[in-house]
This record gives sequence, C-alpha cells and structure tokens, in this order.
Amino acid sequence: MDMAEKETLAVIVPLLNEEETIGLFYAALEALKPELPVNLAYWFVDDGSTDGTLAVLQDLHAQDEAVHFVSFSRNFGKEAALYAGLTQAQGEYVAVMDVDLQDPPELLPEMLAGVCSGEFDAVGTRRVNRQGEAAIRSWFADRFYQLINKISDVPFVPGARDFRVMSRQMVTAILSLSETQRFSKGIFTWVGFKTKYIGFENRARVAGQTSWSFWQLTKYAIAGIVSFSTVPLMLVSLFGFVAFGLSVLGAILIVIRELLYPATSAFGWPSLVVIILFMSGVQLVSLGVIGRYIAAAYLEVKKRPLYIVKDKA
Ligand code: UDP
Ligand code: MG
Repeated sequence: MDMAEKETLAVIVPLLNEEETIGLFYAALEALKPELPVNLAYWFVDDGSTDGTLAVLQDLHAQDEAVHFVSFSRNFGKEAALYAGLTQAQGEYVAVMDVDLQDPPELLPEMLAGVCSGEFDAVGTRRVNRQGEAAIRSWFADRFYQLINKISDVPFVPGARDFRVMSRQMVTAILSLSETQRFSKGIFTWVGFKTKYIGFENRARVAGQTSWSFWQLTKYAIAGIVSFSTVPLMLVSLFGFVAFGLSVLGAILIVIRELLYPATSAFGWPSLVVIILFMSGVQLVSLGVIGRYIAAAYLEVKKRPLYIVKDKA
C-alpha cells in the first residue's frame, strides 16, 4: 500500500527523566512497523525533565519527521502530559504508552486491529499480575480498586494500564471533558464507548527508575476517589445522623436513670470525655473530607491551564 493512503496511529508518550529509555522505546516501535497497517506518528511529551530527555527528543525529531514533541516548562504530572498529548496528536487512531517498555509494544497490532475493524472504540490493557512489585504496593492497589469500584458510578478495571488504542471519536469525547483535575483511568470509562481489555504479565522497566513514590500514589488514589465519587460526603452525613440518634438515646437513658436512681447522674464523666473526643474526632475527619471536595472545586474554578509549553516541534 502507498504511504499516503495509510491512516495514522498517533502514539502519545509522557516522559519524565527518560533519556535512557526513549531510544529503546523508539527502536521497539520502529521494529513493529511492518506488522502495522498504519503510519506511526510519535507525540512525546517531556513533563519537565531535568536530564537530557529534551535533547534526545530534539535529535530524534531531526532524524524522523514522524517524531513530534511538546516540552513543559516544569513537571506538571503524567495526567497533564497525557492531556497535552491527546490535545496535540493528529491521527485517526491514538495510542497512549509508557516509554519504559512496561507496556508491551508487541500487543499494539492486536489492539489496533480491534479498533480499526470498528468492532471496538478502544482496546485497553490490564496487568494480570504484579510480579516484581513490592507486595505492600500491590496490596494497597487491590484495596484501592475494591474501594473505588464500590463507591464510584463508573467501573474501574483492576490492573488497567493507561496503555490503550482509541478511535478519534473517543479521543474527541475525552477532550470534551474540561475538568482540570484529571483522573484518566476514570475518564476513559466515563466517556463510555466499547472497550476491550487485553491482559498481560507484568514486566520490569527496561532502564531508568519509576518516578512515583508511595505518597504520590496515595495522593493519586485520593484524587481519583474525589473525582469520581461523592459517597464519602454521604458517609459524613450518615455519621452525623448516627451520632445524633445515639445522643437522643443517651438523653432518654439519662432521664430514666435520674428518675429511677436519683443522684447517680454525676457518675460517668470519663465516658463523657471519651464521647466528646470521639465526636470531635468524627467532626474533624468529616471537615477534612468535605475540605477535599471544596479544594477540588476551588482548583477547578481557578481554571488554570493544565500545563505550560516551553518548547515544541
Ligand atoms: N511520567 C510523566 N510525568 C510524571 C511521572 C511519570 O510523564 O510526573 C511518565 C514516565 O516517564 C513514564 C510514565 O509516565 O513514561 C510512567 O511512569 P513510571 O514508569 O515512572 O511509573 P510506573 O510504571 O512505575 O507506574
Ligand atoms: Mg513504568
């Protein structure tokens, strides 16, 4: 088939300090080209790297006009990088991939076929195990998926990666969500469309290091819950009702005790202290929960841009 007739698959790749991995990633995808019925276009997003990532991208761009890049003025986070990629990328099909080859490129032909055939609007991937990852991390990840699936309206596929191929129509839908607090895992399912998931075994990074600390993952998980569920707010009200009910019961008991055994009411101040502490604890936690939602609303109304571009090609 002639080059010009082929449709294009835009591959979006977020990068934070990945000078060692970009070359390996590019080579792996170029090697796949004969198996792909489309032209490849790369949309690298340098998320404020402090190493030689930008220089590697500039070199690659000079060699291959299918390589495009956007470079941020600082680190805005992977979500912002994905969003920038989705906004900039042109092509009938769009793929999102990590650069560290933890997303197996050899799955791409099968994924693309699912979307090209029109059978699916997106083909995503999920890790069927988490071998090589700290056990405690996997445990928390499992709890997170259990929790968010209970309290959110959209389903979250356990172990789902951001690695996916989507139709242009679906990308347009994703971009129509203008929220600045983006949680892609939820947004991808929220927009609907028909998605198939392909499972694969977890694998290690080819080079470099993960840039996510446990604390960052925790914050990410909380952001996801706030973004896709208001159940915590309902729980706060529920707590309030239960505490109110208990206090009414307590009041009735005190009146009865006063009538049956007068002059014993002065007993029980330790329990009083415990009750006061318990209630103020519940109140503070509730305020914290409400505060998270207010903070999210506050960040949203500021309408700050998700990222600032310093360099682009
Ligand atoms: N990444 C990014 N911005 C960040 C953190 C990570 O663009 O603030 C990129 C990173 O370069 C990689 C991808 O997101 O291409 C996944 O990151 P990583 O491999 O560190 O995460 P893990 O696989 O450990 O979840
Ligand atoms: Mg990785």
